[in-house]
Amino acid sequence: MKPIIGCVLLLTLLLTACLPTTPVTVPLPTPWLVTPNPNATLTPTPFRPAPAATPTLLTLPPAPAPTLPAATPVNVPLSQPSGVRPHYTFYVNLDYHTHQVAAQEVIQYPNQTGVPLERLVLSVQPNLWTGCFTLSSLTQNDRPLTATLDGQRMDVILPTPLQPGETITLAVGFQLNLPPKKFEGTFGFLGYQVNLTNWYPFVVPYDPAQGWILHDPWPFGEHLVYDAADFDLYLQLAEGSEDVIIAASSPGVAENGWTHYHLEGARTFALSASDQFKIAESALGAIPIRSYYFGKQGAGERLASAATQALAIFQARFGPYPYSSLSIVATESPDGQEFDGLVFLSEEFYEQYQGGIKNNLVSIGVHEIAHQWWFGLVGNDQALEPWLDEALATYSERVFYEYYDLTSWWWGFRVNYFSPAGWVDTNVYDGIAFRPYTNAVYLRGAKFMEALRLRIGDEAFFAFLQDYAGRYGRRRVAAADFFAVLHEHTSADVSDIVGAYFKHAP
Ligand SMILES: [Zn+2]
Repeated sequence: MKPIIGCVLLLTLLLTACLPTTPVTVPLPTPWLVTPNPNATLTPTPFRPAPAATPTLLTLPPAPAPTLPAATPVNVPLSQPSGVRPHYTFYVNLDYHTHQVAAQEVIQYPNQTGVPLERLVLSVQPNLWTGCFTLSSLTQNDRPLTATLDGQRMDVILPTPLQPGETITLAVGFQLNLPPKKFEGTFGFLGYQVNLTNWYPFVVPYDPAQGWILHDPWPFGEHLVYDAADFDLYLQLAEGSEDVIIAASSPGVAENGWTHYHLEGARTFALSASDQFKIAESALGAIPIRSYYFGKQGAGERLASAATQALAIFQARFGPYPYSSLSIVATESPDGQEFDGLVFLSEEFYEQYQGGIKNNLVSIGVHEIAHQWWFGLVGNDQALEPWLDEALATYSERVFYEYYDLTSWWWGFRVNYFSPAGWVDTNVYDGIAFRPYTNAVYLRGAKFMEALRLRIGDEAFFAFLQDYAGRYGRRRVAAADFFAVLHEHTSADVSDIVGAYFKHAP
């Protein structure tokens, strides 16, 4: 079943040479709308309801140091060589109080597809909101380009086909009139916060077999697929916004009146701004970890320490953390949401927090942090094969809690409470409701990973995960890749396990 999209008008935008001085307002199509269901439990990361009046408090020494297994060296380089990834440079002015963004974006796109490209297809998520996105210029070497803008999709017609191995440089000028943030999403403004997520045009992946990969939005789960890219963002805060604190996908450095953010090999660059952030800081080696929060101090501090432990455990188990910093940011939402180097967590989790790590705050926080490996480092099609990031991120929670001897508690709290059923390889468009979807993909996904681990043993299981993360770091995987690497690490027959959990055995 495919999502029903509101009637959208195909718009052709012809940009002329005078555009930089005469901004053209692109007529906006009817936005895609989600009608919030007040009774729904929409959450990309399923969580258990808040504990009742008498929560069990766990006495935990502050910042306990778990005994970590020695990390097995990964023989495969984590990064592609530089120059093969798209590069995005932004000059951004953010007016926090009026919710306005003015941006100049330069996209350097190397054609790594192996075939000539007559066009580029860009995702423009802000155009899904009425009156949010205005394209003011689109040029190549100062020559205007022709583009069509249709909902979230912009087709840029190239004057001459981009040959394999060639790189094209596009300049895109745009403004955002940010919308109020929906409870279920992250993009937009609240009275005390501005979140910039999937906020700029980016080139979606091209696959010679599938074409351009830009799936329809869906009320739950994620629909975007990303190539890994490099980012340089130069940010200026508008007059009157100087008191605002910025959380970002990478650390910021002051440079000539700008704050410069650099991020390599990531799927997307996210920002959150607030004049009311409180910050709890930690670090793992050279990796700064910052928890940006509004509510209880204990919750914000607990997240900073739990994130530090999670990074240490996951580095030992999966391979090096892929980024240079980590920001954990509270926002008004029902759940958590991952981006590269930055994750969002529901303010409700902070409010529910009663101490310890047996709660949504830490389990969902750890889940989103695990996505730095399973989403950020190893990319996948989040709409059609969501288990490749969600099952692994959920199972990573178990990997975290086993260091605290809380494995049984975790299975009960996060998985068995829901009596999960369904196929792990369910996709977001399969036509089932949110809860059965997450039960199948996330929770049965975790059980599938546990069954694999029991069958092949810890040593082969974690060697497989490290090899998989290393080999497919900064790339995108499909189910077949997952199983191909698995079979290199075990001769065990796992076909009965696959048959029990997968509708279509890969
Ligand atoms: Zn997730």
